[in-house]
Amino acid sequence: MQALILEQHDGKTHASVQAIEESQLPQGDVTVDIQWSSLNYKDALAITGKGKIIRNFPMIPGIDFAGVVHSSEDPRFHAGQQVLLTGWGVGENHWGGLSQRARVQGDWLVAQPKGLDARQAMIIGTAGFTAMLCVMALEDAGVRPQDGEIVVTGASGGVGSTAVALLHKLGYPVAAVSGRESTHDYLRSLGANRILSRDEFAETRPLEKQLWAGAVDTVGDKVLAKVLAQMNYGGCVAACGLAGGFALPTTVMPFILRNVRLQGVDSVMTPAARRAEAWQRLVQDLPSSFYNQSATEITLAQAPEFADKIMNNQIQGRTLVKIA
Ligand code: NDP
Repeated sequence: MQALILEQHDGKTHASVQAIEESQLPQGDVTVDIQWSSLNYKDALAITGKGKIIRNFPMIPGIDFAGVVHSSEDPRFHAGQQVLLTGWGVGENHWGGLSQRARVQGDWLVAQPKGLDARQAMIIGTAGFTAMLCVMALEDAGVRPQDGEIVVTGASGGVGSTAVALLHKLGYPVAAVSGRESTHDYLRSLGANRILSRDEFAETRPLEKQLWAGAVDTVGDKVLAKVLAQMNYGGCVAACGLAGGFALPTTVMPFILRNVRLQGVDSVMTPAARRAEAWQRLVQDLPSSFYNQSATEITLAQAPEFADKIMNNQIQGRTLVKIA
């Protein structure tokens, strides 16, 4: 079987498609024939070696996949069943989805929800699942469509695109922040009501004019600092990403004077019940047009080239890897 293998030589990461044997697969109780995987920002960091995602080489990257159970020692899963996986360190410290076959723990798998096929599941992937968790975080904080605009940063990326589409479908007015003019038509087609340039988020004062009832931030650093300073009284920011950097040059002012909530969102260790809820919501709330608008399809061999493109901010939407 074929897999993308990451090796490290002289401190540099090398990626190549290689043949592997079934016996080389790691321990686990369910073996899955993978049909689709995807490239997320974290995969791009791992494949290019630009982020310290992987500590043990050789490693098969791929933090998510969808496919068919080949064999299972876990009574919850049976051969032929459609399943999907995101997170749990798969593709980071356990061989992942950029492979024709994976062996994993049954606890990490989600039975593919009705109404979704494997390709659609990976158009959503880790990025879309995270976008749903961010929207649910805003709902949990009491942010409602009538409260005002929601700002989405890194809007043309995988998380951002899905967040824009979901929020629009749920009736929220959406302002999309993007660093690229070329993405504007795409963002409008997903449902963004207006688009702001990333340049406008370069500098911030501790408090600025109140603009946003809620926010989904995938960028971090100065952009997140500006968003915090512009939140309405009592607003909530769901922060999940660091595409612009992991720093946060802010002050306590938005928190102590405007009652702003900064809610972190992690998709890797999300408990099973919340996972199931988020996948059900994705089936229900993503418009069918989303699946036609937002995916570029590539082969396993193209993954390194597209990982570079992701790191250079040359991709919009989701990058889907066809395995079978
Ligand atoms: P993508 O690469 O698809 O999208 C990232 C977007 O961020 C780009 O499209 C771009 O949007 C913007 N961007 C890129 N570079 C910069 C920069 N230097 N400064 C400011 N903005 C930039 O990534 P994903 O959508 O897959 O992931 C987004 C972030 O969320 C990543 O940091 C990722 O690690 C994180 N993430 C976290 C998860 C969690 O569990 N917490 C799960 C999934 C993702 P535009 O061109 O429109 O400005």
